[in-house]
Amino acid sequence: MMPSHNLAKIQIDELKIIGYSVAGEETVVAIPQLDVCFDVGKAPNQIIAINHVLLTHGHMDHAAGIAYYLSHRNFCGQSPGTILAPENLLPPMKDIIEAWARLDGNKLPANLVGVKPGDEFQIKPNLYARVFPTKHSRGSVGYSVIEKRKKLKAEFTQLSGKQIVQLKKKGVEIDYPVEIPIVTYLGDTQYVDFSKLSYIKNSKILIAECTFYIDEHSERAQAGRHMHISEFTRLIKKLDNQYIIITHTTQRTPMSQIRKILKDELPKDKYDRVILLMDHRRWKNAD
Ligand SMILES: [Zn+2]
Ligand SMILES: [Zn+2]
Repeated sequence: MMPSHNLAKIQIDELKIIGYSVAGEETVVAIPQLDVCFDVGKAPNQIIAINHVLLTHGHMDHAAGIAYYLSHRNFCGQSPGTILAPENLLPPMKDIIEAWARLDGNKLPANLVGVKPGDEFQIKPNLYARVFPTKHSRGSVGYSVIEKRKKLKAEFTQLSGKQIVQLKKKGVEIDYPVEIPIVTYLGDTQYVDFSKLSYIKNSKILIAECTFYIDEHSERAQAGRHMHISEFTRLIKKLDNQYIIITHTTQRTPMSQIRKILKDELPKDKYDRVILLMDHRRWKNAD
């Protein structure tokens, strides 16, 4: 399919993250290799083939793309898309999908899954989306994508393959489960001490909103339940993520100023991990 949007591209090791995110306008962040798309403000062609949309809340700039996503998959002969969303949003989502089907004159097949904090949804055999609460709108959530593996217990690591097979036959528990949090997407949220959830604290990649940057905007951040740089700094200091991708930046502050403020406010070791999704200066250098 032809790309319909000029999306930002970020390469982190083997993972490519694509997206677009401007406060109040549109937010969509996808990781095709993990088969997930976080929020779907509009539905760029580049995300249509992804089988799971993980919706954080119902604001237009994050959710308006649901009908187009479902319809375009149907048009292309793909299976119905799966959309995870806070469970309180399912009735209005069904209403809007039905209304679109009537307007369009075609059925709009959909696999809608209502979620609440603590839920887990299987994305691939070893990959799960875990749901946690955020502080933005009623029922709003974020998602961590977690790989679950089994690891050989330390006392068995010196054994040969043959010896391990023999132990297994005897019914010895040779391995233990491990969880590797690959990426966490906070969606829109005010400050919450997310370090209390170890899978967020230790997530390799954190995708977080930081909407506002100047002092005069702190009331605006409060009113819209968004993160201000002061809150963002407080949060980031408590987390151990290797990569921090900032989304949902306001257009009220120029990108060059945002860059400078981040550099001034964040400790250096944290600033060095930050990638601004919408920093066009970086886009020019990408592939
Ligand atoms: Zn938003
Ligand atoms: Zn919102």
